[in-house]
Amino acid sequence: MLKTFWDIIKTTVIALPIGLYTTFKHVFKKPVTKKYPKAKSEMMPRYRGLHYLERYDDGTERCVCCGLCAAACPADAIYMEPDENEKGERFAKVYEINMIRCIFCGFCEEACPEEAIFLGHEFELANDNRDGFIYSKDDMLVEHPRKDRPYKTIYRRTRRHSM
Ligand code: SF4
Ligand code: SF4
Repeated sequence: MLKTFWDIIKTTVIALPIGLYTTFKHVFKKPVTKKYPKAKSEMMPRYRGLHYLERYDDGTERCVCCGLCAAACPADAIYMEPDENEKGERFAKVYEINMIRCIFCGFCEEACPEEAIFLGHEFELANDNRDGFIYSKDDMLVEHPRKDRPYKTIYRRTRRHSM
């Protein structure tokens, strides 16, 4: 009984004020948590997220459907079908990436001779439908004219120029 009484005293007189002090100490500090999804974290520059397909400045697509990205892909996640425009230039009529298979290794980006495909900073890929994980060319091709840079600077080009 006596032990219980001292336990109550220790809890209310010592432990409780210490706990409240710890709480109040943080009341006026800047929060370290973010209100996701309203506030998103800035990803690290080399983060590899959702792919995007680049265009030339005149709006034409960079991808010539050469298939090197698909050949380099260790997950066999890329599917494409080629076509030619009226000038005889190749382009990808169909270009798809299965994001369930993709391991975001970036080999497709490294293999592309046209600097057409890049992995951006988008990471919100959750979906309740399996078909929603098949990203088509329409999902990945950047808009033209582009309002701002896509998710990251083109590091490969920057590295090449700085060599
Ligand atoms: S990031 Fe890797 S796994 Fe994903 S599509 Fe590109 S090469 Fe394939
Ligand atoms: S994205 Fe690049 S490597 Fe892949 S098919 Fe197009 S041009 Fe070739």
